[in-house]
Amino acid sequence: MRRCAAARETHNLTQFTDLALAKPLLKALTDKGYTTPTPIQAQAIPLVMSGRDLLGIAQTGTGKTAAFALPILHRLAEDKKPAPRRGFRCLVLSPTRELATQIAESFRDYGKHMGLTVATIFGGVKYGPQMKALAAGVDVVVATPGRLMDHLGEKSAHLNGVEIFVLDEADQMLDLGFVVPIRKIASQLPKERQNLFFSATMPSEIGKLAGELLKNPAQVAITPSATTVERIDQSLIFIEAQRKRPLLAELLADKSVERSIVFTRTKRGADRVAKYLVASGIEAAAIHGDKTQGQRERALAAFKAGQVKALIATDIAARGIDVNDVSHVFNFELPNVPESYVHRIGRTARKGKEGVAISFCADDERNLLRDIQKATRQTIPTFDRRNDKTLAAAAAVADKLAPPEKYVDPRRADPRNNVPAELRKQRNRGGRPGGAGANGGGGNGQAKPGGQNRGRNGGGQGQAQTKPAAGGEFRGPKRANGAADQRWNPID
Ligand code: AMP
Repeated sequence: MRRCAAARETHNLTQFTDLALAKPLLKALTDKGYTTPTPIQAQAIPLVMSGRDLLGIAQTGTGKTAAFALPILHRLAEDKKPAPRRGFRCLVLSPTRELATQIAESFRDYGKHMGLTVATIFGGVKYGPQMKALAAGVDVVVATPGRLMDHLGEKSAHLNGVEIFVLDEADQMLDLGFVVPIRKIASQLPKERQNLFFSATMPSEIGKLAGELLKNPAQVAITPSATTVERIDQSLIFIEAQRKRPLLAELLADKSVERSIVFTRTKRGADRVAKYLVASGIEAAAIHGDKTQGQRERALAAFKAGQVKALIATDIAARGIDVNDVSHVFNFELPNVPESYVHRIGRTARKGKEGVAISFCADDERNLLRDIQKATRQTIPTFDRRNDKTLAAAAAVADKLAPPEKYVDPRRADPRNNVPAELRKQRNRGGRPGGAGANGGGGNGQAKPGGQNRGRNGGGQGQAQTKPAAGGEFRGPKRANGAADQRWNPID
C-alpha cells in the first residue's frame, strides 16, 4: 500500500510494535492486518500517549480515527478505573451520526481485547437506550453536540469525569452551526483534561476555537490532497444543467463503475437524481439530513454491500463516511468551495487504490471551476457534451419524472443546503430561534424560527420542552404541534 510505503520512508520504518502500545491493542491491530501506522498515526500516537494536547490537521481517509483512538484506549487501560455513573472518561464529539457510529466502531474494534465500554449519543433515535447505556458510566462516549446537550440538560449525563476530550471534524462543526453548543459543552468539562482537536481545514474561527480549547498543543498536519489526488483520474464534462441526469445515467451504466458517490448541492437535488436513476433501472439511493436514521443506515448498508451502485449525497451527509472501494465520484454540481472538491474526490482512491472523478459543469458554474483549478493548481481535462441530441431527448423524459428545480447560480445559492441566512446567524449566536429555553442546540438540535417554519405538520414553533413525559421516561425535547421539522437541518 502506497500510504504505508510513504509512512515507512518518512518515519524510518515505524511499525505499530515500535509505538509501545498496550498488548491488547497490538493484538487488535494484528487481527485487522494493520502493521504500519499511517503518517498521522506515527506522529500523533506518541504525542497523545504522553498526555499532550494535540491539534491535528487531517481529513478522513488519513487514518486519523486510529491516530486518536489507539492512544486514548492505551491511556484508559493504563489507568483502569470505573467511569462515574452517568459520566464518561473520554468524550469524542462528531458532527454527524454516521461519523459518530464509525468512530465508535473503531474504538470497539481496537479495544475489543480490553474490556472497555463504548457508547454513542446522537439524535434521530430514542433517548431511552442512550440513558440506559449512560446510567452505569461508560469509558468512551462518541456524541453529536445537539443530543449530548439534551442529555446534559436532562441530567441523564454529566461531564465531570471526562479526562480526554476529542473534537473531530471541527470545520464541519462550524459549518453546521455547532460552535456554540461546543463552547457550552467545553465549559462544563473539568479544567484538568487532555484535548485533541481535528480539522481538515483551519478557517480563522476554527483556529480561535482551537486556541480556546487546547493547552500548549503539539501540532500534526497531514496534507492528503497531493498523494490522493495524484491517483485519481479526474475529468470534467461541460453540459447543460437540465441534461445532467441523463448524462449521469449514461456514465453509470458503464461496467467500470462499481460503486459511486454522486454529489449534489441540495437535498432535493439528491432526491431528484436518485428518483431518475431508479426509474432508469440503476440501483441508487439518496442520503441526506431529511432522511430518517433508519433510511440512512439502510442506504449506507446497501451501498457498502454493493447492492446500490450510486449513493447520491450532499457534502455534509457524505463527509466522514468511510466506504472503501468507491470506484467513481461524480460531482453532479461543482462545490461552492474549492476544498470541498478535494474532499469529495478523496472518497475514491482510498487505501492506495485508483479512482475516477468526473465533474459536470454547466455554463453558470464556470467561475467555480476556475476557483477549483486555481486552488488545486491543476487543470482538469475537459470534454464537451453540450448540444447532444440524445441527451436532450432523455432530459425531456427526466423532467416529466421529476420537474426541474429552478436553477440557481451556485455562487448565490446557500452553501449549506438553503439554511435561511437569518437562521444561521441565530444558530451561530447560540440564540434559540423563537426564544426557547436552556436546551440550546438540543434535540436533534435545533428549532425553526417562528413564522419561517415550513414544517410538514404545519408550522410548529421550535420550543424545547425538557420535562419528562407523563409516562415517566424522558423522550427528548418536544416541538409544539409535534412539528419536528428539520428540512434545513443538515444531518444532526
Ligand atoms: P480514517 O481516516 O480514520 O477514516 O481511516 C481511513 C481508513 O483507513 C479506515 O478504513 C481505517 O480502518 C483504515 N486504516 C487506518 N489505519 C490504518 C493502517 N495503519 N493501515 C491500514 N489501514 C488503516
